[in-house]
Amino acid sequence: MPEGDTIHHAASRIRAAIAGTVPERIATPHPRHGMDRWPERLRGREVVSVDAHGKHLFIRFQGDVTLHSHLRMTGLWGVYREGERWRRAARRAWLVLASGPVEVVQFDGPVLELMSDRRVRTDPRLAALGPDILGEGFDEREFLRRLRADDPTRPIGDALLEQRTVAGIGNVWKSECCFAAAVDPWRPAGAVSDGDALAIARFARERMPLSAREGPRARPREVYGRAGERCRRCGAIVLERGQWDGNRATFWCPGCQR
Ligand SMILES: [Zn+2]
Repeated sequence: MPEGDTIHHAASRIRAAIAGTVPERIATPHPRHGMDRWPERLRGREVVSVDAHGKHLFIRFQGDVTLHSHLRMTGLWGVYREGERWRRAARRAWLVLASGPVEVVQFDGPVLELMSDRRVRTDPRLAALGPDILGEGFDEREFLRRLRADDPTRPIGDALLEQRTVAGIGNVWKSECCFAAAVDPWRPAGAVSDGDALAIARFARERMPLSAREGPRARPREVYGRAGERCRRCGAIVLERGQWDGNRATFWCPGCQR
């Protein structure tokens, strides 16, 4: 599943491709109800900005219209030169924005909606989001306040996935951040000190900008995807298990994470 770094990476590529331009071709090939009139509604409007908050991406157009996207498990943003081969089949494209020699394509939804700026500000799902882990003014005290407001029996690994606490962390980063801070992802959040919680967040703040800039290959790979292999820090065997209500995959080292 795409995490905050992937979405920020997509946002900067899309920004470089179409911000400040008026897309001359807008298409919504996917036969999805409610998207029929998007080309008409967006025609002639300049793309004012492209930004991300956590796993949400916003393409803001002149005249109070914003495209909001969330990729969940399946979606993908692509930026292509004209004539370049797309990474997914054309029938899976939900949206194409073409400007000069570039095409910005959103594949496989599943959340793609056109909203007024006011609705973006007031939509309860968006208003409830916690501070963006990649945001410039990340507020550590607000992160701790929100973490403490959540169920203290929830394992810290899963609590980090709560987008109302902190926006942008998914399975890879929760696993890697807990490892970096030597915190057992199974420890109840209520038993994790502020210092440990901040060590987790600070590792993400330090390392995520790199993969936001350069793509997922720049992510750390100490535990995620390494179940059954030896921990590079202590030599114990890395484990994987599903966690909490969503049974979300967690990787950790039982030897050095406490
Ligand atoms: Zn270890």
